[in-house]
Amino acid sequence: MPGRLERSSVVVPTIGRPSLDALLDALAAAPGPRPAELILVDDRPSGAPLRPERPGLPPLRVVRTGGGGPARARNLGWRTARTEWVAFLDDDVVPDPDWYGQLADDLADLGPDVAGSQGRVRVPLPEDRRPTDWERSTAGLATSSWITADLAYRRAALAAMGGFDERFPRAFREDSDLALRVMDTGSRLVRGRRRITHPVRPVDRWVSLRVQAGNADDVLMRRLHGRGWRARADAPLGRRPQHLGVTVAALAAGGLAVAGRRRAAGLAAAAWLAGTAEFAWARIRPGPRNRPEVATMLATSALIPPLATWHWLRGVRQHRRVTRWRGAPDLVLFDRDGTLVHDFPYNGDPDWVRPVDGAREALDRLRTRGVRLGVVSNQSGVARGLISRAQVDACNARLAELLGPFDTVQVCPHGPDDGCACRKPAPGMVKAACAELDVDPARCVVVGDIGADVEAAVAAGAVGILVPTPVTRRSEVAAAPHRAATLAAAVDALLAGAW
Ligand SMILES: [Mg+2]
Ligand SMILES: [Zn+2]
Repeated sequence: MPGRLERSSVVVPTIGRPSLDALLDALAAAPGPRPAELILVDDRPSGAPLRPERPGLPPLRVVRTGGGGPARARNLGWRTARTEWVAFLDDDVVPDPDWYGQLADDLADLGPDVAGSQGRVRVPLPEDRRPTDWERSTAGLATSSWITADLAYRRAALAAMGGFDERFPRAFREDSDLALRVMDTGSRLVRGRRRITHPVRPVDRWVSLRVQAGNADDVLMRRLHGRGWRARADAPLGRRPQHLGVTVAALAAGGLAVAGRRRAAGLAAAAWLAGTAEFAWARIRPGPRNRPEVATMLATSALIPPLATWHWLRGVRQHRRVTRWRGAPDLVLFDRDGTLVHDFPYNGDPDWVRPVDGAREALDRLRTRGVRLGVVSNQSGVARGLISRAQVDACNARLAELLGPFDTVQVCPHGPDDGCACRKPAPGMVKAACAELDVDPARCVVVGDIGADVEAAVAAGAVGILVPTPVTRRSEVAAAPHRAATLAAAVDALLAGAW
């Protein structure tokens, strides 16, 4: 059974909340088989490095997003992982002492049709009084489906989906969205037996107002998954229709009053008051009914309907046109001469390896998102006797110094008449790079400056993007299905999923 867990990594995205310490303490102290790696994704925009080290933790890696939200942080986490399974834990949970062993059991013997396994969530509530509105809503996590508080996915399933949709800006709905996309492919998600505790986070009294922003994310869900998404994601509609009615009543009361129609205004105001009172009572009734809770419920119940409606309208406006999430590619292979560095034909001198403007920044932007990078380069100068293989290697070493590191470097030393399988436009180097890094060619992009680069990509089942130079043939520019003016523009397109 321990062998099973070595096939998995644990990914914890964090914004450095104090709760992270309790999680790391639990992961360090728990007995049982360790996963291959614990990947902590620091999603703070800045700040001193986290100090997560503790004796007993699995092998630890910390990566930083520079701040990008939970979806992007989880994507960097699984892209960094190299294991068959990736188990996500939120940074505000505490796994049970037997969590490692239970995770191993949960993942053991799952068929290839199962793409994910959900852990069980326990939310402790006070025993001496009834739970507050916030406590009840946190407790809803215990019965939610496919939430990343404790969810393990096959890495291949995440890669095929392009991971979490980063258009969901907060920790809301991005996990349901991914689950629906995975299930759309015919894969199954199952419930495991491992358990975590999700304590109720201390909040101020206005938290119920802030969470209304999620109404905009619900619009995105509807656009992406159609009308039936709520039933499939176990997400009840809640009160949005009532909120709309109450808000319309309030606006009508104001408008009618201004128009001098006092009787009609009075009726609308009465409707608003009745709707608001009913809403407030529905939130007060199951709660502790003490003074602070009642005051909070009264104040927020008046504000939530217009706020929810406003966020919903904001979502309708923002998400008018949406496309399927594609995410960044898993692997981007760059042609060398004329693409990453200025082309000096048959160059064998490392001193003449001169990167094009913006190359370093463009590559680093991909690296910080967890995209792997490689080089695929025709070097027929070797076959022609103009340069030695050692000179090619020296130039590539210089390239790695200036622009690296690269996850793979593929070189074809053959000539055009050698009939090899590697010289572009043949797909050999692209296929070899994908095989070496265990990447589906469909999630690989080749960026080059001539038609042969694009043709090699297409022949391998990958995608080619042409970044032309002044010497690129016009016919090749015209024929390229994807073009970008510069490396930076190509990277923009890759990160936006437009490839
Ligand atoms: Mg080239
Ligand atoms: Zn070759």
